[in-house]
Amino acid sequence: MSGSIRSLVWFRGKELRVSDQAPLATAARDGEVIPVFVLDPYFFAPERACRLPNRMQFLLESITSLEQNLAHLGSRLLVVPGKSVDVIPRLAAAWRVDRVLSQRWTEPFGRERDRRIGAALPVPFELLGGETLLPPGTLRTGAGAPYSVFTPFARAFARHAGDVGAPLAAPRALAPLPSDVSCPNAVTVPRLVDLGIRQNAELVKGGEAAAKERLRTFLRGPLSTYKIGRDRMDTAGTSRLSADLKFGTLSVRAVWNAVRGSSAAERDTNSPRVFENQLLWREFAHATLWDRPDLLETPFRPAFKNFPWRDDEDDWRAWVEGTTGYPIVDAAARQLVGEGFVHNRARMIAASFLAKQLMIDFRRGEAHYLEYLVDGDWANNNMGWQWSAGCGCDAQPYFRIFNPTLQGERFDPDGTYVRRWVPELAQMPAKYIHRPWEAPRQVLDAAGVVLGKTYPKPRVDHAEARDRFLRVAEEHLGRRS
Ligand SMILES: Cc1cc2nc3c(=O)[nH]c(=O)nc-3n(C[C@H](O)[C@H](O)[C@H](O)COP(=O)(O)OP(=O)(O)OC[C@H]3O[C@@H](n4cnc5c(N)ncnc54)[C@H](O)[C@@H]3O)c2cc1C
Repeated sequence: MSGSIRSLVWFRGKELRVSDQAPLATAARDGEVIPVFVLDPYFFAPERACRLPNRMQFLLESITSLEQNLAHLGSRLLVVPGKSVDVIPRLAAAWRVDRVLSQRWTEPFGRERDRRIGAALPVPFELLGGETLLPPGTLRTGAGAPYSVFTPFARAFARHAGDVGAPLAAPRALAPLPSDVSCPNAVTVPRLVDLGIRQNAELVKGGEAAAKERLRTFLRGPLSTYKIGRDRMDTAGTSRLSADLKFGTLSVRAVWNAVRGSSAAERDTNSPRVFENQLLWREFAHATLWDRPDLLETPFRPAFKNFPWRDDEDDWRAWVEGTTGYPIVDAAARQLVGEGFVHNRARMIAASFLAKQLMIDFRRGEAHYLEYLVDGDWANNNMGWQWSAGCGCDAQPYFRIFNPTLQGERFDPDGTYVRRWVPELAQMPAKYIHRPWEAPRQVLDAAGVVLGKTYPKPRVDHAEARDRFLRVAEEHLGRRS
């Protein structure tokens, strides 16, 4: 096929790139390309946008970068305000396109949106892969069911790894928009300030060029020690690519191939394998949500239904504000708000603390994380929270309860992470930084810490809170088994 098909390429915020972008590559190969981004009020109405300030900042930077990259190739991104369900069918008809091309979404509401738009379109609506390495729904057990345990899922993936393929190159050039295509209501990409959001200089930078640079930095440095470095909260031992994978400023396939072809992988496959495994957790989370859209509302393990979570507003506020008195939990809470990011281990500790020690419904924490995380992703976040609460797919068992003090001492041994995010403890010696309540009076004085004044006393006693959770969980789960 060449030169005859007119495609509307609809970018929707999860594929904001020109490299390895299947809809764009397909459209460019076959003929005329009309790139569109719709500013749907569902996300972009200021009262909604300002509830997701961090994601919005990354998103706007990434759309701007996409606009520039498309312009550089010779085309133009048309940014159109309105409801997608109205705009896309209207534009497709007005421009007499032959088809609409987009990347497939995993989440239930995205799938429902696409079903409605597909039904309203006068032309085919083709949804192509790219969000995951393999299309969700591909891997099945011998009985034809979805996997509910990670290790067999990863083994099944290994048997299909050859299907991942190589990333598609960006088109070398694109034709200008066809001369009969006009769009009088196209607008410029909104600025943050237009949406009532203040710029946060601490956030990871959006856009394809910044994403590629982050990947290069990771391949040159942390990848070779990832196996150990990934758990350390005090060092930059991970890729920091989560927002790129969420918004598609890089394709997961490009990352997968880059890691496999890296010099670190040539020297020693250990760390690269561990990293690939994390990409497979992402794959597993997406595959799981694809098959179980209800998980955004319900626990994976039915026995956890109607679990007697506590309604304690003071405990909740302390967790949100980072004033629980457990330094590692508080550092995680404050990193979330400060940087729109939380280290993976800190996410696990903080989430487990909310669900187990405080016994507050993990769904509140899940929603709070979605509000602030730049990488806030429905599938990964849901799996992370259900895992931490003990009710998820291949989750941490309910009776394994992180001790936040020991976790802090093990994975932030000098307290560097805590000192950065809980500055009122910055002068505490390493020995006590994760357990300030045990520090002798003179140590506290020397560090300028007054427990209960400059930094809170522990809100709950870990051992008592642990016992409370186990008692309640055993009673609840026992009743259901
Ligand atoms: C409670 C909780 C909530 C989470 N919420 C999110 C979320 O909203 N969005 C999100 O992308 N990740 C989430 N994660 C997973 C993980 O914490 C982040 O992906 C990771 O910290 C991002 O940092 P990184 O890019 O440096 O990761 P790296 O360690 O460099 O990993 C590379 C990539 O692999 C994927 N990945 C790594 N770990 C996981 C995992 N456990 N589950 C699924 N994918 C993974 C991510 O895409 C990540 O960017 C959550 C984990 C927990 C425990």
